[in-house]
Amino acid sequence: MTHLLSAAGLTKTYAISGGLLLRRQAIALRAVDGVDLNIMPGETLGLVGESGCGKSTLGRTLIRLIEPTGGTILFDGDDITSLDMKAMRPKRRAMQIIFQDPYGALNPRMSVEDIIMEPLVIHGARADAAARAVVADMLRLVGLPQRAASRFPHEFSGGQRQRVGIARALALKPRFVVCDEPVSALDVSVQAQIVNLLQDLQAELGLTYLFIAHDLSVVKHISDRVAVMYLGKIVEIAEKRAIYASPQHPYTQALIAAVPVLRPQDRGRGRRARLAGDIPSALNPPTGCRFHTRCPHVMPICRTQEPQLRTTAAGHQVACHLTERP
Ligand code: SF4
Repeated sequence: MTHLLSAAGLTKTYAISGGLLLRRQAIALRAVDGVDLNIMPGETLGLVGESGCGKSTLGRTLIRLIEPTGGTILFDGDDITSLDMKAMRPKRRAMQIIFQDPYGALNPRMSVEDIIMEPLVIHGARADAAARAVVADMLRLVGLPQRAASRFPHEFSGGQRQRVGIARALALKPRFVVCDEPVSALDVSVQAQIVNLLQDLQAELGLTYLFIAHDLSVVKHISDRVAVMYLGKIVEIAEKRAIYASPQHPYTQALIAAVPVLRPQDRGRGRRARLAGDIPSALNPPTGCRFHTRCPHVMPICRTQEPQLRTTAAGHQVACHLTERP
């Protein structure tokens, strides 16, 4: 099957000005560092990693909300990496984003109708009866009453605001949606409702998702495959079942160990090393394997040679020297 979206060697570097007064010089922060990624039509790819690992930057770079510094992005077979604004316009309609903070992402002075209608107007539609019909359709799709159209964001709960954010993202009938931590700011009791809604919408509208989260438990339900990111790089990617049942990268293993075990009979089974220490600065990443400063299995080679992402089983790729040993 042809990929809906493909990235090769995707890189996003920020030039950060050095702090020392007399030796002010630009330092390169590689937020996304040579990522290769393929996303199939209709699938949900979960993207997981701690805060600051570059997952949000990667999601936004894939749809060119952030311009890449290097690499290529193919969408529906077309190279969109350096399309100008005009040529990018039809692609933009097809690639949308749902933000983490539904309140911050919605203009508090606009009614819900105007918020959902705005992308249509930006893309050339008139704010007329046809556009209002689209808004009504979107409200129905996300489970909000029609009377919500005349109300303002502050009149809604966090979960309802996220429904408005979803309706806005879907108004242009996109094919690919980056869900950038869409439930992280919500109460746990509401998170499952929003994840279920996103799943229902995917089935109804044939959407493809990149679902970003910092917690493996959040993406477990919704993902077909899961990619694990550490300091700007994908360190493991596989089908969901393989990631949760037989994670191969020590970082993935530590993330899984951090997931709360709910069933008493499962507690203590398959426990692996918990993650120690903070994620190092992306301004000065560790040499060799970037995870070596926190890895319980670190070997001398890990400090000097960077492991490459390689296939260890069908559809399962890992970047770790442990998996290279005979
Ligand atoms: Fe740990 Fe070495 Fe594997 Fe990195 S390459 S994850 S340091 S064993």
